[in-house]
Amino acid sequence: MTLYKRNACALVFLILSIFFNVTIVQGKFTEYHNKHLSRELSLSKDGKDNLLLPFDVTRTPGSNNSLMIQNFITQHFQTNMKNNWTIEYDNFQENDYNFTNLIFTLDPKEIRQDKDKKYILFAAHYDTLVNIDGFIGAVDSAASCSILLYLSQFLDEIIYEDQYLIDKIVEDNEYGIKIVFFDGEEAIDEWTETDSIYGSRHLAKKWLKDETMSQIELFVLLDLIGGKRTKKITEWKIKSYYKSSHKYYQLLSEIEDNYLENENTIFTKKELFPTDVLYLMMNKVLIEDDHVPFYNANVSILHLIPFPFPEAWHTIDDKFDTLDEDEIQRWAIILSEFAIEVISG
Ligand SMILES: [Zn+2]
Repeated sequence: MTLYKRNACALVFLILSIFFNVTIVQGKFTEYHNKHLSRELSLSKDGKDNLLLPFDVTRTPGSNNSLMIQNFITQHFQTNMKNNWTIEYDNFQENDYNFTNLIFTLDPKEIRQDKDKKYILFAAHYDTLVNIDGFIGAVDSAASCSILLYLSQFLDEIIYEDQYLIDKIVEDNEYGIKIVFFDGEEAIDEWTETDSIYGSRHLAKKWLKDETMSQIELFVLLDLIGGKRTKKITEWKIKSYYKSSHKYYQLLSEIEDNYLENENTIFTKKELFPTDVLYLMMNKVLIEDDHVPFYNANVSILHLIPFPFPEAWHTIDDKFDTLDEDEIQRWAIILSEFAIEVISG
């Protein structure tokens, strides 16, 4: 065999092994989603595994319902996980309200002690509007919270139990994960700089002080995700807002394309448009949300929010019947794959 032939053989072997590894990993994802998705992110099957329906309550800061949801979220990380997640409660008082941010951290096994470790952060807010009686906040942001619960368990099981992925992560020395549930995103009276995003302002301040902020490689914020398309708003467009995160936005869009190409999925319409650069060119905060204090601290932000906002936004109609189960499940699938890609480098 000539050297040329030997090299060609090695190359074919390499391509085949990458192909088989990718296929195996893809198979594992599909297997996981088939087993979990329809039970955990269901609008109708009210079983003990359901991660969405428990949010069908008002969740105003400091209320009993808020405490109940905090417990529900925390228990998910204490009982449904195979790995040891660090659990932090960030409690504080402002404007006569008690607020609590919930932070869950999973460090890759091999770099647990590394001071230079970096994190990919996924966040949503779990509080609801105070000034509309009985406001449920299904798209704002119950569905996003349930997607984060799903995503965290997916990552817990897939990344840290799968030797191929563990090897890849250790080899590339990549990222840990933080999942954050913010309290007090909503204004108490009317949205101003000081009457809004109570939780994220508080956590950002804390993290600037203890230097956690410098460990955040990317901040992915979900908000107003999971609504039904309506007569007025027939399609969701989730734009790319920031130059620093555009490469991540492109990755999300590629993942979406792959699912759209396959006919046997719940994917029907494109929602991500990487060539639509209008907002990107402005590259500034156009929609105020929990990312602002982190954006101001120079963290790269991927803001996943449809624009225009869902029709039921900030009305009493933002109830669970405004949610679209497929839409929620699609985002759970896309973000699961996205998180693996980003974390494993
Ligand atoms: Zn809101």
